[in-house]
Amino acid sequence: MHKKLFIPGPVDVRPEVLEAMGTPMIGHRTKDATELQKRVSEKVAKVFMTKNPILLSTTSGTGLMEGSIRSLTAKKAVVFSVGAFGDRWAKLAECNNVPVDLVRAEWGHPTTPEIVDEYLSTGKYDVFTITHNETSTGLMNPVKAIAEVRKKYPDVLWLMDAVSSMGGTPIPVDELGVDVCITSTQKAIGLPPGFSMCSASERALEYGKQVKYRGGYLDLLDLYKYILKKPYQYPSTPSLSHMYALDVQLDYILNEEGLENRFARHLKMAERTRAWAKEHFELFPVEEYASNTVTCIKNTRGISVKDLNAKLGEKGYQISNGYGDLKEKTFRIAHMADRQPEELETLLKLIDEIIPTL
Ligand code: PMP
Repeated sequence: MHKKLFIPGPVDVRPEVLEAMGTPMIGHRTKDATELQKRVSEKVAKVFMTKNPILLSTTSGTGLMEGSIRSLTAKKAVVFSVGAFGDRWAKLAECNNVPVDLVRAEWGHPTTPEIVDEYLSTGKYDVFTITHNETSTGLMNPVKAIAEVRKKYPDVLWLMDAVSSMGGTPIPVDELGVDVCITSTQKAIGLPPGFSMCSASERALEYGKQVKYRGGYLDLLDLYKYILKKPYQYPSTPSLSHMYALDVQLDYILNEEGLENRFARHLKMAERTRAWAKEHFELFPVEEYASNTVTCIKNTRGISVKDLNAKLGEKGYQISNGYGDLKEKTFRIAHMADRQPEELETLLKLIDEIIPTL
């Protein structure tokens, strides 16, 4: 039986989008493919609220995280981490020989503007990374306040992981001044996994020219160079199936549901899940910073999440256990992409019924 997914990706994909994935292939150098890629890039830019160039990558989001930190850091990067996916930036830098400092907050707490100010004021860094929405702790960072303090350091490039939030909550990339903003398809956008998108500022791409070893497949400058030479074309064969699916899904997001309605629906489901979590357990992150796409809950009652999920599975639902260090201490309910508030109500009711039987 297919289970309704309340996990933080992959997500359930609308039938129309699954159908679009199956569209017959065309040559990736044809006029039709170029037009498809142009359309998709323009729609992605609208969701990102940016005028910066859009780069599409046939990798999951980690590919663009690796590519951006490697191809844009000439001096040293500082990674502000609030959980496992923040730490991932530092690991990706290290294994690519990119000098990096890792600054970790206590899990469940945000990256504060003060800590960003403290580190950037040293003048040691040319790049900093922020996780917009940390999936492992269910925390959304205060990026508006971070953007304010960053104005003091306009030359330091800002790379942001918006993998699990873009499309589910407003992220005005240009207003914030983010140089590279990254997302994957399998989260709030609502597509199958295996593809990612980023916006990259011209100045970041210019700055990267001084980095000698930028890698190959994931070199952001190389992708951009190709796009400039042959508009909307890529150096290697991209996943056209994802392009077809994005074309259909982004139309739905932008024109049928509308971005504002989509954000409001995510917020409504997040608020409902938080209220439920507080009634029965405790929220893991500081509430002010709780995520709008995934709720991370402290397992204060010591229930077996495995047994809960097994029983939910019999009814056709699935939630998520904790991630990494938090595997035993927390569990997560994701409410992203095209999940509806009524479906969430049914899930919460089922959990209420199951918990006393565990
Ligand atoms: N960052 C965050 C916040 C994530 O949630 C994930 C995926 N769970 C990633 C990065 C990695 O993305 P991907 O799996 O698309 O490589």
